[in-house]
Amino acid sequence: MTFASLGLIEPLLRSLETLGYQTPTPVQAQAIPAVLAGRDLMAAAQTGTGKTAGFALPLLQLLAMEGPKVAANSARALILVPTRELAEQVHESVRQYAENLPLRTYAVYGGVSINPQMMKLRGGVDVLVATPGRLIDLFRQNALKLDQLQTLVLDEADRMLDLGFSEELANIYRMLPKKRQTLLFSATFSDDIRLLAGQMLNDPLSIEVSPRNVAANTVKQWVVTVDKKRKAELFVHLMRKNKWKQVLVFAKTRNGVDALVEKLQGLGVNADGIHGDKPQATRQRALDRFKLSEVQILVATDVAARGLDIEDLPLVVNFDLPIVAEDYIHRIGRTGRAGATGEAISLVCADEVNMLSAIEMLTRQTLKRQNEPDFEPEHRVPDTDASGQVIKKPKKPKKPKTSGGGGKRNLGKWVDSGDTQAPEPSIKPVRKVPVFNTGPRKRKP
Ligand code: AMP
Repeated sequence: MTFASLGLIEPLLRSLETLGYQTPTPVQAQAIPAVLAGRDLMAAAQTGTGKTAGFALPLLQLLAMEGPKVAANSARALILVPTRELAEQVHESVRQYAENLPLRTYAVYGGVSINPQMMKLRGGVDVLVATPGRLIDLFRQNALKLDQLQTLVLDEADRMLDLGFSEELANIYRMLPKKRQTLLFSATFSDDIRLLAGQMLNDPLSIEVSPRNVAANTVKQWVVTVDKKRKAELFVHLMRKNKWKQVLVFAKTRNGVDALVEKLQGLGVNADGIHGDKPQATRQRALDRFKLSEVQILVATDVAARGLDIEDLPLVVNFDLPIVAEDYIHRIGRTGRAGATGEAISLVCADEVNMLSAIEMLTRQTLKRQNEPDFEPEHRVPDTDASGQVIKKPKKPKKPKTSGGGGKRNLGKWVDSGDTQAPEPSIKPVRKVPVFNTGPRKRKP
């Protein structure tokens, strides 16, 4: 199959040639003809499957071929994304695809001054990429009108709900013309997303290019169990032993990001961090330098790293497991993109066993465990499997104390195989369920 056979026009085909795209990915093969035919879409596509081109190419074609010239302070197509970084990234892709078309594209997001954005919108833009909060601000200040809007794209819709944008989405929905085309993309699909889809879409075509909630099978994944307090030490050990060149590391909190970056920098490692507390310009600079391989280790929280497209990233390390199991899929989606192979290593301590279990259940696989000599945890991580079971084995009965017993190393360990006791019943894994329309939540983890 070729892009030409999907009905794309010559200026777009030329852009794709420049970018080196030869064959449409499965999501592109399904989405492009459907969008060109004017259908609404509800697409479940993993990160890294080429979904951006899947919606952007036909959208640009429709804008180039149909509809009036864009009016002042107007947008003809709106792509809503959850984070600033994703806005930049999606806009960059759209800009490249539109290179040979007479269309104006632009991205707006919070965390930077609104004035230049207002000025830029004066002339009108054909494609506007936006985060929900800033879009509403611009609309309320009359810098943007949406009566000319032909197409709305909700990209990473699941993430928008997770980040508490449900109220903003409901507001934006009221600002839109009733007659429009709507395309909803989400890596994972929950009941709340389906509810949102029911409100926003009109007779949508459902596209599911990969089994739901299954991580890319080009990514080799495994777990190294370790005590919480030794994670940083283990990370440095693995980095040196395996001579890691470029690694994206995920930590749970902003403090966790800062602490690891500080430790690595203290050891002379070229590391940087991104999280919601850092100014946008600093985050973007760290990311750009990482992409240019000027930074070797980039440590990030989930929000800061969402949707980042880094070419040929060989390795993702989960320094902490994500609290929301779906985030695991997004995280490891940073590697193994567009058919390349990648590795994802998770450093897991006993506290995280329920998160590990939730991830295994969601991805329907038991993650392979690999112990690192000298780092075997004193607090053993109970066995887990894809059924959601956490198999706790009873503790060894305490030995009577003897002088100089040195029993400390064994405290908290579980009895190894061979014990005859049945495992405890399964413990329900922790999963956060996003709720639509119940007010804003914390936006910057
Ligand atoms: P996305 O899932 O949209 O973030 O895309 C993931 C990566 O795949 C990006 O680097 C795209 O430039 C690249 N890509 C998308 N479609 C194709 C294609 N048909 N052939 C080669 N690379 C592609």
